[in-house]
Amino acid sequence: MWPEDSAGGDYELMAEQDCIFCKIVAGEIPAQLVYEDERAVAFRDINPQAPTHVLVIPREHIASLDEANDAHENLLGRLLLAAARVAREGGLARSGYRTVINNGAGAGQSVFHLHLHVLGGRPLKWPPG
Ligand code: AMP
Repeated sequence: MWPEDSAGGDYELMAEQDCIFCKIVAGEIPAQLVYEDERAVAFRDINPQAPTHVLVIPREHIASLDEANDAHENLLGRLLLAAARVAREGGLARSGYRTVINNGAGAGQSVFHLHLHVLGGRPLKWPPG
């Protein structure tokens, strides 16, 4: 059984085989990191949809928001705060930015390791497509 929300745990033990974001966390494939702490990592999206497009992910493998549970409460807060920090440090606080979590293939989720998109640097329309 995987530990659910163990700060400071051995994330390599929790990595899902064949999960591209677990491989980024483990340093097995390259990414342009912009932020990391003991529980979260943020890196630039390989296919940016805005001048700034960063993904914030937990080190721990959680397939989607729908897979998160009460044990992840603190972690989810940490991810949001990391997103705000990334946006602030990227100079987006004044101009505005958007955080997005796609949950499930029907909503556009293509990588099944929970991630927040941080998008900014251009006007963002609402509603999204
Ligand atoms: P989603 O469609 O919400 O699951 O978002 C997945 C995002 O991950 C997409 O915006 C992809 O462009 C991005 N992505 C996939 N592989 C990589 C990678 N190796 N490095 C950075 N971003 C990636």
